[in-house]
Amino acid sequence: KLYNQVQDLKGNIRVYCRVRPFLPGQSSSMSTVGHIDDGNIMIITPSKYGKGHKSFSFNKVFGPFATQEEVFSDTQPLIRSVLDGYNVCIFAYGQTGAGKTYTMSGPNELTEESFGVNYRALNDLFHISKQRKDTFLPLLVNTLDIHNSSQKGLAVPNANLVPVTSTTEVVELMNIGQKNRAVSATAMNDRSSRSHSCLTIHVQGRELASGAVLRGCMHLVDLAGSERVNKSEAKGDRLKEAQHINKSLSALGDVISALAQKSSHIPYRNSKLTQLLQDSLGGQAKTLMFVHISPEADAISETLSTLKFAERVA
Ligand code: ADP
Ligand code: MG
Repeated sequence: KLYNQVQDLKGNIRVYCRVRPFLPGQSSSMSTVGHIDDGNIMIITPSKYGKGHKSFSFNKVFGPFATQEEVFSDTQPLIRSVLDGYNVCIFAYGQTGAGKTYTMSGPNELTEESFGVNYRALNDLFHISKQRKDTFLPLLVNTLDIHNSSQKGLAVPNANLVPVTSTTEVVELMNIGQKNRAVSATAMNDRSSRSHSCLTIHVQGRELASGAVLRGCMHLVDLAGSERVNKSEAKGDRLKEAQHINKSLSALGDVISALAQKSSHIPYRNSKLTQLLQDSLGGQAKTLMFVHISPEADAISETLSTLKFAERVA
């Protein structure tokens, strides 16, 4: 296999942690993030949480100064394995504001350097399939928002399936998202923190030697915000929705952790998200979970629960 360079003891599941930098105007004197090395991160906990240090280990930790390019280059072998016919899932997990959308799509004001994993992945796959155009058909791309509260069935609409044949089309496709965002940044952010948004890329090619058709598929998922919602603040539909989100995120955690432990029963059926992605989770499929944390002191409680979630699936 040409691109299958991703192998480690954990098999096909990897967990990366990314720390968002302080934003302009925020004081960086109150960071909860201590020492970071390749795969370890130390969190400094205030007295309320038992003053001291807690360490967490992952396949890789990206500090606040990691660039989009650095993050992508670690992900690239996994992404390219889709061309060998593997199914790949990449998830961005974390509380709202921790940088999920930044990692997957980039910031609102996009520059070449700030393009996220989505764009870089499409562009990379596109370039390779162009080079090997006698063996690859155009990539097919599908975007879908998975709303947890929806009672509708599990049919995945193929209406959004778009063939991509050039870099320009990739840029245009990405611009659609940008335009949507420009309509109302707050409304969009609110909506995006309450649904999982999933970009699916289908790859189809022909193996030169045997002539066999090879199919791979990759899901890039910007998950709903993982923050717990205060019952005193949220009521009715909003509370119900928040509970659905928490349920689906913990169902995803259960599935990935069962896969990591090579358990004989994988509880796919506990949420719509895991049912939809069942074919791409487990078996020969490869999974990467990016967990995001904010460095601020007042995010400490969500930061610790995010890291505990991530440790459970790692
Ligand atoms: P989420 O999608 O998790 O709610 P966002 O990706 O929208 O969070 O990030 C919140 C804010 O922080 C945005 O203004 C975003 O541009 C900024 N941000 C997030 N991660 C980074 C980063 N690694 N470097 C610079 N700015 C970032
Ligand atoms: Mg977001």
